[in-house]
Amino acid sequence: MSYELVIWLEVHIKLNSENKLFCQCHNEQEFESLEINTNICPVCTWQPGALPVLSQEALDKAVQLWIALGCEVDRWSYFDRKSYFYPDLPMWYQITQQWRPTNINGEVNFFVDKEFKEQKTVRIRDAHIETDTGKSLHEDGKVVLDYNRSWTPLVEIVTHPDFRSTEEVVAFLKQLQRIAKFNKISDAELEKGQMRVDVNVSLKEEGSDEFGTRTETKNMNSFSGIIKAIEFEEKRQTEILRAWGEIEQQTRAWDATSWVSHVMRSKEDAMDYRYFPEPDLPVCELQDEYIDQMKDIVVEDPFLRIKKYKEEFAFNKEYINTLINDVDMNNTFEVLIKDGYEAKEVAKRMAGPIQRWLNDNVSAYKDIVFSEAYFREFLDRISSWELANQQAKVVIAEMLQSGKSAQEIIEEKGFKPISWEEIQTWISEIFEQQPELLEQMKSGDMKPKWFVIWQVMKKSWGAANPQMIGESLWKILA
Ligand SMILES: [Zn+2]
Repeated sequence: MSYELVIWLEVHIKLNSENKLFCQCHNEQEFESLEINTNICPVCTWQPGALPVLSQEALDKAVQLWIALGCEVDRWSYFDRKSYFYPDLPMWYQITQQWRPTNINGEVNFFVDKEFKEQKTVRIRDAHIETDTGKSLHEDGKVVLDYNRSWTPLVEIVTHPDFRSTEEVVAFLKQLQRIAKFNKISDAELEKGQMRVDVNVSLKEEGSDEFGTRTETKNMNSFSGIIKAIEFEEKRQTEILRAWGEIEQQTRAWDATSWVSHVMRSKEDAMDYRYFPEPDLPVCELQDEYIDQMKDIVVEDPFLRIKKYKEEFAFNKEYINTLINDVDMNNTFEVLIKDGYEAKEVAKRMAGPIQRWLNDNVSAYKDIVFSEAYFREFLDRISSWELANQQAKVVIAEMLQSGKSAQEIIEEKGFKPISWEEIQTWISEIFEQQPELLEQMKSGDMKPKWFVIWQVMKKSWGAANPQMIGESLWKILA
């Protein structure tokens, strides 16, 4: 009997709003640099009398994320109290949206493979806002409770069981990261805890519509961990089923050092969270006008951009990867092509010298020292044949180092555009060396034309305008 892997995910994305979800504390994005319990207040540590107030900015970002995920945004929702005891949860409950999530029925489209060929759609069951917990730290045999992270805003995204392989899971999560980054909702870095993933794994008999019992492995924070945890669970469940055993519904924890998961709790000790509507927060009502405003802010789905680069521009995967891995570079690219710059020319410079400079300097596109206006000027000079290909390489390398304009560098280097006279001299030189070409063309056989143009291009370092070469050639033949 062979089995098919069935996976669904619960993904937590940490919003990058200025403040925490229900208080005025700063919503720190990286906790490592922060002194323990220095980013807290009476609200996020649940002091008597303190009341939560929903952050408008966090709500805006959550709504934008829902729209970007193609969800139906519910006009009316409320928050629930999820009661459970955990030492790093100061109020003994989490505020979430259990019964009336603001968003249902979304979908995420993505390419599964690295060549951008195989498309896949995964359905989103719901997406809702909730608070994060604090952290328990173990130091010198003691437990330290750090509430810096307490009440920071999360959006939890729950998918349908649409995944059939680890490749699909990884490609989906990368697309989710792109959506979050492109919309400046979250950096969604797994390693920084800005994205955390629970994987639900089950097996079904091949060809059957019936799903097997699932297990959930919680809080994965690396792509390699996610892959290993799914593979571990697939192997474990297959062995049980092959031995005619039964899969037990379990919540499991992943041990990233020994690469195994172990049982946290089974169905028998499932917790009763005693959900009830959060009495300290009003019902959340969203107006159509507000939702329209949020729709205007959400950028084009990065999947559609990848599709455009692949199908319309016929870019190779190197170009596509460069363009979709840096939001600022991508935005500049989109603006430039909208203004009529040739897509291939812009992508060539971005994937070539600019990407190399970013790699060498471990930088992002926003750190580039020359302005967009200078980049435009550089591209203008290429399209007007003022810069040879070799010269352009020198100019952009210098621009990346010094931040100077193309104009300044051209003057410094003494680069000059190719003149009509130079082109005519080069053509004459070619015909002097190979007079048979001239004879052939004069007799009406134009086959050598491209050879001559190519020779002149070579002599000019790729700087001569082929149209000018063609015209010069006609003058000589006339
Ligand atoms: Zn606070």
